[in-house]
Amino acid sequence: MLLAAWRFNPRIAGLGAWTLSYGFALLISLNLLLRAVAPELLLVLLAQFSAFMMAYLNLQGTRAYVGAAPLPWRYGVTGLAAVLASAAYFTLLQPNEAMRYTLISLVLGVLFLLCARSIARGNIWDYPARYLYALASGGHGLFLLLRPWLFSLDKQGLLDTQRAIAVSHIVVVESIVAVVLMAFCIVMLANEQVTLALRNIADRDPLTSVFNRRAFLALLDKAARYADRMHFPLSILLIDLDHFKKINDTWGHRAGDEALLHFVSIAQGCMRDGDVVGRLGGEEFAIFLPNAQQHEAEAVADRVRRAVEAVPLAYGETRIGLTVSVGVACRLSSETPELTLHRADAAMYLAKRNGRNRIELAQPSQLGSAQGPA
Ligand code: GH3
Ligand code: MG
Ligand code: MG
Repeated sequence: MLLAAWRFNPRIAGLGAWTLSYGFALLISLNLLLRAVAPELLLVLLAQFSAFMMAYLNLQGTRAYVGAAPLPWRYGVTGLAAVLASAAYFTLLQPNEAMRYTLISLVLGVLFLLCARSIARGNIWDYPARYLYALASGGHGLFLLLRPWLFSLDKQGLLDTQRAIAVSHIVVVESIVAVVLMAFCIVMLANEQVTLALRNIADRDPLTSVFNRRAFLALLDKAARYADRMHFPLSILLIDLDHFKKINDTWGHRAGDEALLHFVSIAQGCMRDGDVVGRLGGEEFAIFLPNAQQHEAEAVADRVRRAVEAVPLAYGETRIGLTVSVGVACRLSSETPELTLHRADAAMYLAKRNGRNRIELAQPSQLGSAQGPA
């Protein structure tokens, strides 16, 4: 399953290491097959080698997935060498199966808990696959830490033979369930990446990376419903670059594209957290400002206008001056957001007619004029 997921999504970070990790899990099964024929030391080393590699690569995969730097290779080599040396010591020099079991259980337990911690960083509640994976690997890690203690009950004479056998069965069943569960979670994580990438393509303008018209309108609708519930105001700026066609005609489309990027970066610098910018089309942008009264929106609009005017686009050796015309509308109570946008658009056209490089306030429409500002 993982191999197929990796094969079809080679660019998803972490899938390679995860798949390899499950390759080592297969080696553990090979160990069971060799039990009758291979010498004990070889079996012990093979089992501990594959179990360590499985858990370690799982951690590396998880770190890669969340964008954390890979652990330096010397950590892995040192850990592996320590595990193998202690396994050899407690097999050949001082044979002690319980000690071997305890040590490898603790090492694996810590590695799986680290996996859970890596994936659980940041805002995981929006990412169900992440918290499922954190639960699966964290639960498995805890169980690994506890399982030597389960067997020690037997040593203390607390368990009868039947119960001791039941404990071994629980340990085997837990491993199988945890490994399968984590593999499912990894496939879900891969799916989450694909979904996020597609959502990004669907919602963002490919040139400027701001929301496209559809996504902007959807977010505006949501913000308007929230504003209604909370009795908050909501303002919209509609911004159009002045004489943009002339930039294309004079310096070419590449300069035009750069001017759009330049404008977006300036506008974003003037916005607060929570303000949302979208490209409605061509060289026309909109920003909605949740919880902003008309005079606050007017101040933001003027900030954007001045900043655009003050910082010309550096295009090679040339400096290309830009200006914008802005329409500002504050939503009237229970007005549809489309209507507010429409009023902002009309105000923007008024700014164009009045000479460009200026802002104009929207008039209440006939529909909205009966109500006061929200
Ligand atoms: P005004 O001041 O009245 O707004 O004039 P304008 O030239 O800005 O407006 P007009 O609507 O005449 O021209 C807009 C131009 O924007 C035309 C179109 O070729 C150009 N345009 C639209 N999208 C893009 C784009 O993604 N990249 C570039 N380079 N140009 C674009
Ligand atoms: Mg224009
Ligand atoms: Mg336009």
